[in-house]
Amino acid sequence: LTIAPDQISGSYIRLTPEQQHYLWRVLRLQAGDRLLAMDGLGQCWLVAVEPPDQMQILEEQIPIAPTELPRPVVLLIAMPKGQGMDDIVRQATELGAAQIMPILSDRTLLNPSPQKLDRWRRIAQEAAEQSERQFVPTIGEPQSWSDALTVWNAETCDAYLCEARGDRPHLLQKLLPTRGASPSTKPVAIAIGPEGGWTDAEIDGAIAAGYRVVSLGRRVLRAITAPAAALSILAAALEQ
Ligand code: SAM
Repeated sequence: LTIAPDQISGSYIRLTPEQQHYLWRVLRLQAGDRLLAMDGLGQCWLVAVEPPDQMQILEEQIPIAPTELPRPVVLLIAMPKGQGMDDIVRQATELGAAQIMPILSDRTLLNPSPQKLDRWRRIAQEAAEQSERQFVPTIGEPQSWSDALTVWNAETCDAYLCEARGDRPHLLQKLLPTRGASPSTKPVAIAIGPEGGWTDAEIDGAIAAGYRVVSLGRRVLRAITAPAAALSILAAALEQ
């Protein structure tokens, strides 16, 4: 369960109606049953449930097996059309992204409502619980590619832009440590384009901001498959 700060009062946690439904109707817990609750920001409590609407904190700062990637990974994702972002947010959370930044690229067709953002944040929270992550990834407000480049660039992170066309080096090749060089500790930014791909101007802008343009393999992946492929490669390389 993910707990918001305003649900905590002394050694008790007040349950929201959704959490009550989940604990009593879905999990069928009984008074006194114990579970781990997290705040999505790294804190974890052992609690005992007290129907109908609260849990008692038994222990604070419970140590749990680390599930976060060794370096924060930011997914810059040019939003695909339709419901595609639902899958991307869920999979990116399962695969360890620390931050998901929706990008309004030149060929992006979606301009999401605030309700859509709330929905993506709920999906991220549920996926983080399912994957037993200590942190729920943050989902930023949609922003233009040029604005994103002012924040996520070679000065702030190791930045990669995935491009399906052309003869590009593979992402994995770029992530493997170079002999003699000290390994980077910077956050990693990975950018994925929309269904129609990045425009040449967007790729040029990324290169000027210090991005390395990389391939995810020989096959062109769908816009909703590419983020999962990129994050799997990143996780495999970073967790070595
Ligand atoms: N027709 C588009 C093009 O030629 O660029 C295909 C775009 S693809 C459906 C959507 C995004 O997924 C691309 O912009 C890229 O970021 C990523 N992508 C898909 N396959 C890829 C690959 N093999 N290597 C690198 N990136 C890929």
